[in-house]
Amino acid sequence: MNLQQTPVVTEQTFRDMEDMSWFTHALIFDNLLTVAQKQTNCFVLNTADGLAVIDAIWPSRDAFEAIVSAVWDVGWVPDFRHLLLTHGHADHTGCGRYFVETYGVETYLSETDDRFWAERPIAPDIRKDYAISRYIDDRQVLHFGDTPVSVFATPGHTPGCLSFIFPVTDNGERHMAALWGGTTPPREKDGIAQYLQSLDDFQRESERHGVDVALSNHTAVDNGLERIAYSRKRMAYMPNIYVIGQAGFRRYCQVFRIMSGESLKAP
Ligand SMILES: [Zn+2]
Repeated sequence: MNLQQTPVVTEQTFRDMEDMSWFTHALIFDNLLTVAQKQTNCFVLNTADGLAVIDAIWPSRDAFEAIVSAVWDVGWVPDFRHLLLTHGHADHTGCGRYFVETYGVETYLSETDDRFWAERPIAPDIRKDYAISRYIDDRQVLHFGDTPVSVFATPGHTPGCLSFIFPVTDNGERHMAALWGGTTPPREKDGIAQYLQSLDDFQRESERHGVDVALSNHTAVDNGLERIAYSRKRMAYMPNIYVIGQAGFRRYCQVFRIMSGESLKAP
């Protein structure tokens, strides 16, 4: 079998990140919802301390409305209290300002990427548009009610990029999920060594936490749209497609190593 080793990323991939014409979503664990547009997705973690949104798709009111309506659709109450950001790119800081304005959520990002977000907008007309209320950093553990979210500094994709590990349950069965925050290796060659070091560190932490669920915030990396479609129609006897086991998570990390190698070879 000739299986695909890495995602196909083209100029169109980046253009598609701005397409707010449709969204899809699925409840992928008892306590975890994902909401996606064509290329970018976010997560909503349901905790005893309200809902924690992880990343926020794109700076668009449409994205905000899609996330809120997805929450209603899966039968949750939109008690948004927290917004965690993996890094300071607009396709992750996204529509956060609407969560701040509407629900008064606490916002979390590394101090380094808060500065990076302000100083390095991805386009001249897309600027930092809300404040961070709490800086988070390596090896901090946030407790949202009884749900611990472990924070890891994984610089490379951006200087203050973060990745998260937290528990999820599938029909009551506990699993550990890891979200690698910065999908693509940096374009500057000298940043790739740091990116790979972060990946090694995060993989080691994931082993230590018994991670068996790989989450991605870009759908091209994990067949995200197809997995959402599967999850929406998953029947009771079918496996949870996000549970890939510890060995599966190791193989998932390989995708980013291969992408980095390709970046090294690129002119
Ligand atoms: Zn990014």
